[in-house]
Amino acid sequence: MAIEAFVFDVGETLVDETKMWERAAAAAGVPVFTLMGVIGGLAATGRHHDEAWPILGVEHPPSTWGMTDFYPDALACLERLQTDGFRVGAVGNTPRETEELMRPYVQFVASAARWGIYKPAPEFFERICDEFVLAPDKIAYVGDRVDNDVGPAIAAGMTGVHIRRGPWGHFHDPPAAAIRIHSLDELPEAVT
Ligand SMILES: [Mg+2]
Repeated sequence: MAIEAFVFDVGETLVDETKMWERAAAAAGVPVFTLMGVIGGLAATGRHHDEAWPILGVEHPPSTWGMTDFYPDALACLERLQTDGFRVGAVGNTPRETEELMRPYVQFVASAARWGIYKPAPEFFERICDEFVLAPDKIAYVGDRVDNDVGPAIAAGMTGVHIRRGPWGHFHDPPAAAIRIHSLDELPEAVT
């Protein structure tokens, strides 16, 4: 089995969501600590983070990422993988606007919103195979969550790479079949 393509989740895998949640707290008029605590509680109990807004009794504020939100290891990793001859893509449970953020740095970009298919649906991972015209065992999917990223990627026949960062990355215990990394600097050696 030789990996030919790396496909990345976006939030908390390539992008540090800290500032996004801080901006969201400010826009919603709730203290940052309160929002972060509620998000953490939802992450720990396997509930969707969008439940934070009704719990807090506020409207869902606009939330976006920008260039300054990339983790320090993200862009270098994407560049190195492509230099090493791998095909590289980014597609997460993200809105279409995220595609524009990612487009300069990867060969393939899409979004769950464009596809109308959200992780952990098996169809999401089948769509990746179709787009890359690759069998799943040629693809490594890298993500911070086991429930949405690593678990369904492995179930689809891909290599699942779990990066331990962000609230979900710390709460989730990856399955034995997953490859565990703490930084994107560990790619591609951890997989190949
Ligand atoms: Mg993520």
